[in-house]
Amino acid sequence: MVKGRNRNKFEKRMLEQVKQALISYENIAYFKSFGRLYVKLNGHPYEPVADRLKDLFGIVSLSPVMSTEHELEKIRAAALAIMQALPKQPATFKVSAKRAWKKFPHNSQEMNHLVGGHVLRAMPELKVNVGKPDIELRVDIQEEAAYVYYDVIPGAGGFPFASNGKAMLLLSGGIDSPVAGWLALRKGLEIEAVHFHSYPFTSEQAKDKVIELAKRLSYFSGEPIKLHLVPFTEIQTTLVQAKSDNLIITLMRRAMLRITEQLAERNGAFGIVTGESLGQVASQTLPSMNVIGRATVLPQLKPLIMMDKHEIIRMAERIGTYETSILPYEDCCTLFLPKSPSTNPNLRIAEKIESLIPNYKQLLTAAVEGTEQLLITPEAETAMQTAGEDSWF
Ligand code: ATP
Ligand code: MG
Repeated sequence: MVKGRNRNKFEKRMLEQVKQALISYENIAYFKSFGRLYVKLNGHPYEPVADRLKDLFGIVSLSPVMSTEHELEKIRAAALAIMQALPKQPATFKVSAKRAWKKFPHNSQEMNHLVGGHVLRAMPELKVNVGKPDIELRVDIQEEAAYVYYDVIPGAGGFPFASNGKAMLLLSGGIDSPVAGWLALRKGLEIEAVHFHSYPFTSEQAKDKVIELAKRLSYFSGEPIKLHLVPFTEIQTTLVQAKSDNLIITLMRRAMLRITEQLAERNGAFGIVTGESLGQVASQTLPSMNVIGRATVLPQLKPLIMMDKHEIIRMAERIGTYETSILPYEDCCTLFLPKSPSTNPNLRIAEKIESLIPNYKQLLTAAVEGTEQLLITPEAETAMQTAGEDSWF
C-alpha cells in the first residue's frame, strides 16, 4: 500500500511512475483508492519493491499489508499470522482498527477488542499497551477488502516526477548542485541538467563525474534525464582577457545563466535551479547573487539557499551523491578562480565590461550551438546529438 498525496492528477502521475519503476516485475497489479495506491505483489518478495518505492517522489509512506475478505475470523487469522511472523517478538502491542466501510457489522472499538483478544489468547506472553506499544497492529476495513499491517515506512515525500513543470539544473561536479537537483525532483520538477566544461583545461574524468551524478538523479526521477554539456572554454578565456580579475566569477556566472536561459527556451523549461547557498563563497553573497541573477529573467530556484554546509553534506550522503562529488577533478570555474573574487560586485561595471567584449552575444550563441546532449539513465548515457566538428573528449 502506498499512501500518496490526496490529489487527483498527482495520483494519476504517481501510478504511472510506480508502474514504470516496477516494470521488470511481471503480473503485479495496481489499484487506487482514497489517496492510496495498492500494489498487489502476486508472489514477488516485498523488500526489493519497497526499496525502490521508498525513493520515488510523491509517496508519503508505504506499508506491506495482508489483505483479507471482510469477515471477522479471516481478519483475526491475518492479524495473528502477522504477529507470529514478526522478526522480533514484541512485549507489548495494540490493535488500531478503522472502519471506513460502514456496512461491516463491528465498529472500530469493537474490532480493537475482537482482534486484540484473539491475538492475546494465542500469544499469552503479550501485553496490551495503548499509550506506547512496541507494535501497533492496524486493521483497515475498506469496502473492497480489509487490510492488516503494522509497518509504516516513510516515503521520500514531495510530488510525483514532472507534476510541476520543467526547469534547467545547473549541475557542477560539486557537492551542492546534485542535492539541489534531488530537491527539485522531489518537488515534482522535471529537470534537464546543464554542465559547463572547459575542455581541454578540464579533463574527461570531470565530465564522467557529472554523468555519474546525473545517473543518480535519473534513478530518483525514474525517467531518463537530458544532460547538456556546454563548451565554455572560449567564453572563459575571453572574459579573462577583460583583465578584471575580481569580477571574473561574476561574469562567468552571468554568462552561464544566459546560455542556460537559451537552452531553457529551446527545451520548454521555465526556471533555473542552482546549488547556491547564501554566504558559502564570494559569488553567493546577496550582493553577488543580485548582480549575477540580473543576467536572466527566468526564475532562479535555489533549494539550498538557507541551508548550512553540513546539512547539505548529510543530504548528499543520504541520496548517494557525496562519494562522487568529492572526487578530486577540477571544475571549470576553479581553474580561473582569482585571488580575491568580489563579494560585492558592481552591476554597472559588469555590464560595461560585457558591452565591450566584441561579439559577446555571438560567443554565447556559439556555446549554445556547440552544446552536446546526452540522455542519461541510471545505467547508461547515450549521445543525443553529435557535437559538430569541434568534438571534445
Ligand atoms: P557546487 O557544490 O554545486 O559546485 P559550490 O558551492 O561549489 O556548488 P559554486 O561552484 O560557486 O558553488 O557554484 C554555484 C552553483 O553554480 C552550483 O551549485 C551550480 O548550480 C552552478 N555551477 C557552478 N559551476 C558549474 C558548472 N561548471 N556547470 C554547471 N553549473 C555550475
Ligand atoms: Mg562548485
